[in-house]
Amino acid sequence: MYELRSNWHGVFKKALAILKANKHPIAQTTVAVIEGKEVQVLPYSQMRIADYNAGQKHKNKKKTFEFPLSPKDIKKITEDFIGFFRGKRIYISPIDDPLKFASVLVHEVNHYINDKEGNYETDEQKFLEELRAEMAEALVFKPHFTRKNLKDLRETVAANYDLPMPATPNKLPPGIFTRPKR
Ligand SMILES: [Zn+2]
Repeated sequence: MYELRSNWHGVFKKALAILKANKHPIAQTTVAVIEGKEVQVLPYSQMRIADYNAGQKHKNKKKTFEFPLSPKDIKKITEDFIGFFRGKRIYISPIDDPLKFASVLVHEVNHYINDKEGNYETDEQKFLEELRAEMAEALVFKPHFTRKNLKDLRETVAANYDLPMPATPNKLPPGIFTRPKR
């Protein structure tokens, strides 16, 4: 299988080890959410059809697939997105680089801890959700993240997610990056 060849579980383990070794509070929150089993981290081969469809409901070009996904379809979906969350399930595509895998975990866990009804309804909401998740990744892995980087990141988010730049481009995303230790 595609994911066995790519050693999905082995890379997931290495990614968790990278996050554990990273002392940034956002990295630590990511580990706590995963190890506390608040979320399940799953390969695309275990993606539920309802989860996939719910994630696609706002898209105009809907693709249909058979579930469980075939290696060919996993490859196709990976071209659209490399990580995805729905409720308490986080799906990660076959990623070979543990550092990249770790970064996607930070991103998806950030979506998870900020999840609430209706926060993907408008383009601006989607933009802010993605900006916050991308910021979380940058804060963990780019130690000297500045305002200038934030400006660049906004442009990257608008381009990568095919979203218009919000009317209030300087607005910081609402929500949280970390959780206090319990
Ligand atoms: Zn995202």
